[in-house]
Amino acid sequence: MQTLYDLWKPLDAKEKAGEEPTIEEIGVNNTSQQFFWGKRSKELLSQVHEDLQAVFNLFITRTKQDCTIMPSTIRTIEDQIQFVKKGTSKTFKSRHLFKMAVDSCPLKNGKIDWHDLKPFNEMNDLIQECADELGIKIRQGRTFHDHPHNELLKSVYPDTDDVLNELRRRGLIK
Ligand SMILES: [Zn+2]
Repeated sequence: MQTLYDLWKPLDAKEKAGEEPTIEEIGVNNTSQQFFWGKRSKELLSQVHEDLQAVFNLFITRTKQDCTIMPSTIRTIEDQIQFVKKGTSKTFKSRHLFKMAVDSCPLKNGKIDWHDLKPFNEMNDLIQECADELGIKIRQGRTFHDHPHNELLKSVYPDTDDVLNELRRRGLIK
């Protein structure tokens, strides 16, 4: 059986290949039970659609567990080609290319436990709650077994022509 960890191993390895984030960067602040996005998570979030930023910035003020934004949130078309090759992603038209998706994970002592879905579900319940409260329509990856993934609903936030045209130009989509 393919586990979440198997599915995301390439991303995890990619992240591990870089510098290990410090506790400060991850944003752990155990004394107040209030969490903050770390430096790297903030940089990634700042690049996505402002409505997604609003959801995740409300989320972090309410979460009871620390969470991190994954580097896979921001992708180039080259990255996406690699993801499809590895089987991590099934489509070239990833919502990540349009800056309309975020991959986030709960952290336990600064680490991601890919085998425990409970923290992922708690994180996603709260993300959905924050989106509902802000009136922002999202689609959750857990409905298709991609628990770190949340995206803006395509019918409300359609794919944009700049990326679609580039994908067509490269012959990746029709
Ligand atoms: Zn994703």
